[in-house]
Amino acid sequence: MSLFAGLEHVVQQDVPLASFNSLRIGGNAAYFAVPTSQAELQELVRRARAAGMPMRVLGDGANVLIPSQGWHGLVIQLSAPDFTAISVTANGLNVGGGTKLAHFVSMAAREGFKGPEQLVGIPGTIGGALHVNTSTTGGNIGAWVKQATVLTAAGEVLVRKREQLNFSYRQSSLNELAIIAAEFEFEREPSELVVRRMQKLWIVRKSKQPLLDEPCAYVFKDHGGSTATQVLTKAGAQGMKSGAVEVSDRDPNFFVARQGATSADFLDLVAKTKQQVLDRLAIELELAVDVW
Ligand SMILES: Cc1cc2nc3c(=O)[nH]c(=O)nc-3n(C[C@H](O)[C@H](O)[C@H](O)COP(=O)(O)OP(=O)(O)OC[C@H]3O[C@@H](n4cnc5c(N)ncnc54)[C@H](O)[C@@H]3O)c2cc1C
Repeated sequence: MSLFAGLEHVVQQDVPLASFNSLRIGGNAAYFAVPTSQAELQELVRRARAAGMPMRVLGDGANVLIPSQGWHGLVIQLSAPDFTAISVTANGLNVGGGTKLAHFVSMAAREGFKGPEQLVGIPGTIGGALHVNTSTTGGNIGAWVKQATVLTAAGEVLVRKREQLNFSYRQSSLNELAIIAAEFEFEREPSELVVRRMQKLWIVRKSKQPLLDEPCAYVFKDHGGSTATQVLTKAGAQGMKSGAVEVSDRDPNFFVARQGATSADFLDLVAKTKQQVLDRLAIELELAVDVW
């Protein structure tokens, strides 16, 4: 591994990415790195860039589809402690880019910070959530960002302030290689109220999502004034399947991957359900999942 000589303790070759995404499907990463510090992250990026190797950062893999042939470059995961810390400020939280959303949500509720409880039960990391502006009908993560620290593919660390950032439905202008950390600001409310609201929302969400241990993805974006769930239900998508991937009977906007499922099965079911929605309702649904 001469390309990453001296970094063998954080880089592995031929790593199966199926273990790192919520669908549990997909091939191998040529290189997979878990840097333990910002300096190591920058060195990895510098070397990969010098070798012309493509790079991607993976969060919790809750919004990606990895093809069967895998990813031919370097995959970086910010799961080491240097990238997963949370600290409390006067009006908010400073959060590492690799921090789990669940940690962020529960910490905010405990501190009496209003808003993040709306995201309870959504899998992911802060970096992945900011990149796609993760949202529910109750709020979106972009609404609470004060600033974000990012690393560009050219190896430059930048601080991007609120006024330089744009967040819209399932989209954000935070599209640099790596979101390393973010600072959030919230309105305050007594923490008992926030915690109680979070618990109620969690019970409702849990009853609608596939079972916790079922490999799945949340597939399409909402359309116009309707949720993707409403559109798919109206188009009769329940019960559809392709190979070992099927539309969830709890909510048709979740596709569940059964034993032996492939990325081709998933994409085939996407095509079939899209076509059915188009034929029956003349609506063109857009994929929410990021296909690598
Ligand atoms: C059961 C279930 C329920 C869901 N419910 C919702 C919901 O209600 N609302 C909603 O909006 N989404 C929902 N999702 C989708 C998903 O949970 C969110 O999009 C989540 O924020 C993805 O975060 P992640 O860390 O898993 O990102 P990943 O899937 O790992 O990555 C997504 C994209 O972000 C990029 N990325 C990841 N981390 C970084 C980083 N640190 N820096 C730069 N780029 C990065 C990746 O390269 C990739 O392009 C759901 C998914 C599941 C499986």
